[in-house]
Amino acid sequence: MRKPLVAGNWKMNKATVAAAILAQDISNRYLRDYKSVDIVLCPPFICLKTVQTVLKFDKSPMKLGAQDVYWEDDGAYTGAISPRMLREEGVCYCIVGHSERREFFAETDLMVSRKAKALLVQGITPIVCVGEGLSKREEGASEAIAFVLGQLKESLQLLHPGEIKQIVIAYEPIWAIGTGRTATPESAQEMCLAIRGYLAEAVGPEVAELVRILYGGSMKAENVKMFVPMPDIDGGLIGGAALNAQSFIDIVKAFA
Ligand code: PEP
Repeated sequence: MRKPLVAGNWKMNKATVAAAILAQDISNRYLRDYKSVDIVLCPPFICLKTVQTVLKFDKSPMKLGAQDVYWEDDGAYTGAISPRMLREEGVCYCIVGHSERREFFAETDLMVSRKAKALLVQGITPIVCVGEGLSKREEGASEAIAFVLGQLKESLQLLHPGEIKQIVIAYEPIWAIGTGRTATPESAQEMCLAIRGYLAEAVGPEVAELVRILYGGSMKAENVKMFVPMPDIDGGLIGGAALNAQSFIDIVKAFA
């Protein structure tokens, strides 16, 4: 049985005070029943300490996540943050290869793979994002699946099976991110099943059964229930709805 995981990607929203308020608001709404779900808050880098302080003070089981990382441990890389730095801040998860990083920051599959590898060295779980654009989806389901599996293969190119076992994968169709338009649960399930099938072939069925695969793309309290019964969807990566404490907690509740 894979434990569901719900991660909130706050993106470039909430500076320190607002981040503290949101983290506290989420923490206040947390109920013990949600222990069956791994919950991750991914604020901007500058708010990691603040959010960690709120979670620590509340003795919260919720975990701290980051939205990106660079793969070197230290050195002359102006503006970058290393996996070691994240570990020292108490970060347990880190998103890599989000479509916004790929689009606006020219992140390649090889870079994603380097980041994932470097995070694992520090004991941080990478949440590796993959997903097709609208034009690929419009070519048809099998074209979209072939594209996503190719992206996944390249994004995991530096990882050996023992490392792949430790990652989380997020399937996020780009046309569903921030648009209010979700994939149907059936097509999201079809993609997540294909991802698991790819993992089974590439690194063995045992590893494939362990890896959690999330769906992301306009998931919210109003639509989450249709994704929950899908056997290969193990949780959600949430953008917009993670900025509202009650909406985020309602998504967690649906997976609990
Ligand atoms: C995301 O950016 O990872 C995401 C899923 O965003 P949203 O929920 O807003 O579509």
